[in-house]
Amino acid sequence: MKPTFKRLALCCVLMAQLSSNAFAQQRRGARVDLIVSGGTVVTMDEGRRVIEDGAVAVRGGRIVAVGRRVDIARRFSAPEVIDAAGKAVIPGLINGHTHVPMVLFRGIADDLDLNEWLTKFIFPAEAKNVTEEFVRVGTQLGLAEMIRGGTTTYCDMYYFEDAIADETARAGVRGLLGETVIDFPVPDNKTWAEAMRYTEAFLSKWRGHALVTPAVAPHAPYTVSEEHLREVRAMSDRLGAAVVIHVSETRKEVDDISKQKGARPVEYLARIGFLSPRTVAAHTVHIDEAEIGLLKRHGVGSVHNPESNMKLASGVAPVPQMLRAGVLVGLGTDGAASNNDLSMWEAMDAAAKLHKLSSNDPRVVPAEDALALATIGGARALHMADRIGSLEEGKRADLVVVDLDELHQTPRYNIYSHLVYATKASDVRTVVIEGRVVMRDRRLLTLNEPLIKQKARLLRERVTRSLGRQ
Ligand SMILES: [Zn+2]
Repeated sequence: MKPTFKRLALCCVLMAQLSSNAFAQQRRGARVDLIVSGGTVVTMDEGRRVIEDGAVAVRGGRIVAVGRRVDIARRFSAPEVIDAAGKAVIPGLINGHTHVPMVLFRGIADDLDLNEWLTKFIFPAEAKNVTEEFVRVGTQLGLAEMIRGGTTTYCDMYYFEDAIADETARAGVRGLLGETVIDFPVPDNKTWAEAMRYTEAFLSKWRGHALVTPAVAPHAPYTVSEEHLREVRAMSDRLGAAVVIHVSETRKEVDDISKQKGARPVEYLARIGFLSPRTVAAHTVHIDEAEIGLLKRHGVGSVHNPESNMKLASGVAPVPQMLRAGVLVGLGTDGAASNNDLSMWEAMDAAAKLHKLSSNDPRVVPAEDALALATIGGARALHMADRIGSLEEGKRADLVVVDLDELHQTPRYNIYSHLVYATKASDVRTVVIEGRVVMRDRRLLTLNEPLIKQKARLLRERVTRSLGRQ
């Protein structure tokens, strides 16, 4: 064989190989990072599409396609495929209101009203125990519990929020995290000026982070002065940050604010220019028609916490009325000291049932709407619906694979009914946040569960001693 002919032959072989690779690539489809394949895909999109034998393709932390399994398999290939056959694939749940480190105060004082619970137990226990280390351990414990229950985004209000943000980013969980500011000395900041400096640094540090959205969280209209609330609004405007606050949680708050300010809490906040489309108001239990109108007009998100409101006997938020008026309503657990867990499944179930009972109408908050409160509704309430809340092309890849074959789920007629009224946090199998698998087949991949439990139990001893108990 002449050398030139040899080269030509080699060239032909290479070309044939290249074209067969290209053909195989075309046959396998475009490369993505991850495909969740099979199962009932509950999208919670505008059309509320439910796709039997569906699939979701993920690339670069983003959803690139949602459709039938066979179509996704034709269009895409991935090095990692999660088999979801026989399971449900739903958007990651959104816990719209909590105080994550308070899992360490789980069960410290129960069966009291908010005022007594807060002033006699929670504030003193916090003053004696909350350090950065305490907050870190509590956050790890809460994050582990939330991932196990399929929560992929949570909205928090606490102290040392920078440490909470750090733990949250490490665990790969999404958070709208608000540094709590309040008009008395607290564990991380002893004066208002200190708190403002801390918050400003916190907001600048985390701005633009893929998972952590920093926020400022004035505790409530009855614990933060008018002047300071105005300051918070100005900071929010300056830095484009969300503002998280408790509003109208109890009748006492409404009475006190009405006496001091001559207006109900939401009216007062509107009057001082505090409300904006970046505000997230937790609770809004005792609000009237006019206040519902104000929440809607100012684009305020409202987060409903049915279990905490029931346990503290705070009252029943007018959720059906808010939804009818077009208010952005989400759902939360509140801190574990007043719930006493972080399960969004129990929150959905409680929300659906509480409003039927209190309105004497079983048609309000049907199962599909309850799931919406914990997904797309929660995303809207946190002003994050452009990124999360539904399984749609272009949104961040936060999704949860849920088992559907446990005894308490057998047999199955309706997927929404099943998810809201029968499914438990322990049925969550696999959790993906920002395209990253953080729990696979019920095994946590970003947190050390035995170590976290051990550290939490040690802190329990410290808390008990600090309160003079045994
Ligand atoms: Zn709260």
